[in-house]
Amino acid sequence: MTRRSISILGATGSVGASTLDLVRREPGKWRVVALTANGNVSELAKLAREFEPELAVLADEAELPALRDALSGTATQTAGGAQALIEAASRPADITIAAIVGCAGLAPTMAAIEQGGTVGLANKEALVSAGEIMTAAVARYGATLLPVDSEHNAIFQCLAGNELGNVRKITLTASGGPFRDWTAEQLATATPAQAVKHPNWDMGAKISVDSATMMNKGLELIEAHHLFPVGLDNLAILVHPQSVVHSMVEYRDGSTLAQLGPSDMRVPIASTLAWPQRMDTPCQPLDLARIGELTFLAPDEARFPATRLARQAAEAGGAIPAVLNAANEVAVAAFLAGQITFMRIAAHVEDVLSRYAPAKPTEIDHIYAVDAEARQHARMLMEAA
Ligand code: NAD
Ligand code: MG
Repeated sequence: MTRRSISILGATGSVGASTLDLVRREPGKWRVVALTANGNVSELAKLAREFEPELAVLADEAELPALRDALSGTATQTAGGAQALIEAASRPADITIAAIVGCAGLAPTMAAIEQGGTVGLANKEALVSAGEIMTAAVARYGATLLPVDSEHNAIFQCLAGNELGNVRKITLTASGGPFRDWTAEQLATATPAQAVKHPNWDMGAKISVDSATMMNKGLELIEAHHLFPVGLDNLAILVHPQSVVHSMVEYRDGSTLAQLGPSDMRVPIASTLAWPQRMDTPCQPLDLARIGELTFLAPDEARFPATRLARQAAEAGGAIPAVLNAANEVAVAAFLAGQITFMRIAAHVEDVLSRYAPAKPTEIDHIYAVDAEARQHARMLMEAA
């Protein structure tokens, strides 16, 4: 059997770890081409010693000497910096998992797409910021973009064998996050520690805060808009506290298909790794008798305005989703650092959106410029507050 080759961008993160856990279980099946991380030398070195990639890359170039030391005597090449990250993503691989967090993952994700292979996309911020440019590149380079995000992976599975033209509605489910039942008064006191404690999913800090504000669902709405172009009016959000139904597709004949599964990212990742086949996972099988009840409720945009902001940004299109994303990244980092309150996150995004509306970007460099300028606006507004 020939081994399949895989690269993981963001290998030290939550999605990276889940991906490598599946790779670890089928050692004879995979050959690891590249593993990348931001600055965590010890974790990247540990993974490189275990998975023996051709290349291990740190985005933070200052840490490169430490990585070199840690991997001396191994066959793994080391590199550092933004350009090295792009080179890692450009190495031919049967599949690349794009699992960097934030718009920082855009350039390497685009490089993987331009290599024309299969890209498993977890890095939703990159698609939100560069939607049309990224989907155009997928078509131009003949790449295959497979969604890793659990909702989009569910939709992708529910669409198999069907035509988008027959879809009446796509519904993204949302757990509602740790503050789903909190009052506005309680939300005003929410701390970073409370926000990152998600009831159903174990994820990185940024996406956990996004789940708490519901911006995660807002970003996912924009992500779905690009992956499954059925029109924004046909994309809905439904709160589903049990996180068992990962999303649904309703067809014109009245049939609704849903994908169900345990809330374990290894399920959608496995579906991506094995596509169009299936593979085993160690995940707990779904026990519906034990779960007993599945409930659904409409989102409350008065307490959680982020989905409204994201929908407006998607309707505006052009550079506006990139502004929304950049403002949110700055606000989430400030919240995690204890600099702003929980309720300021969405308010801050709205303030930035009201002050900065750049022209439609036509190339990836424009997106970087918009991202950088939106961050500057976001920081300036924060200092003025
Ligand atoms: P994480 O914070 O756990 O890991 C992020 C990874 O990206 C790490 O390897 C980190 O070293 C790397 N990284 C961070 N900043 C970087 C930079 N500036 N340059 C290069 N590399 C950088 O995040 P995560 O929870 O694994 O999420 C990764 C992506 O997947 C996000 O876009 C998130 O929205 C998406 N996603 C995550 C989950 C989940 O369950 N964790 C589910 C669906 C989608
Ligand atoms: Mg998701």
